[in-house]
Amino acid sequence: SIESGKRQQRPPGNPTDPVARLVVISGPSGAGKSTVLRRLLRECDLPLAMSVSATTRPPRPGEVNGVDYHFLDRDEFRRRIDAGDFLEWKEVFGLGHYYGTLRSEVTTGLKHGRWVILEIDVQGALAVFQDSRWDPVSFFIHPGDMNELERRLRSRGTEDETKIVARLKTAAREMKFSDHYRHEIINESVDHSVQEICEILKEYCS
Ligand code: 5GP
Repeated sequence: SIESGKRQQRPPGNPTDPVARLVVISGPSGAGKSTVLRRLLRECDLPLAMSVSATTRPPRPGEVNGVDYHFLDRDEFRRRIDAGDFLEWKEVFGLGHYYGTLRSEVTTGLKHGRWVILEIDVQGALAVFQDSRWDPVSFFIHPGDMNELERRLRSRGTEDETKIVARLKTAAREMKFSDHYRHEIINESVDHSVQEICEILKEYCS
């Protein structure tokens, strides 16, 4: 079911002052999520901020520690789990690496009045949905079509064949969870997706 523009109860306060919310965005890798998010941050006139996740996956060429991810080794990741530093963490389906949202990324952003965006997998998202403290605005981004998804994964050229196959399987698995999200976006055009997400977010301000 594709819902859009669902409005939320506003907490008391200045009715013209939008309340920063947590935003969860998921979708198979290769669905064009990163491109949409990059453009959203530039073009949507709301105070948005990306939460920088931690991962045990090695950096891809060009990725910068602390910007794209906090790249941690497994021991450090486990230590931070034990320290309670994560709002959620998962071993993402089929990828063999840990990924997690650091509490500090979220609390700092929200404290500064920013809408903090979590780009996380479906398992992590379900954990966040189950915690009534957050009540995030959630989006599932679908690839325009599966052939396009495969083409995008291959053209990125950063993964070998077995990893591409694993990511395609993960994608099919993830898409089964899309109806847990408040909004579903079919990413046929980046322009449209960016505009649609920004408009939906603004509806939560009014
Ligand atoms: P990639 O390796 O392509 O950067 O990310 C692979 C998957 O990990 C994506 O589906 C992405 O949404 C997910 N992911 C990234 N950061 C987090 C996180 O902090 N928590 C969870 N649960 N998943 C994440």
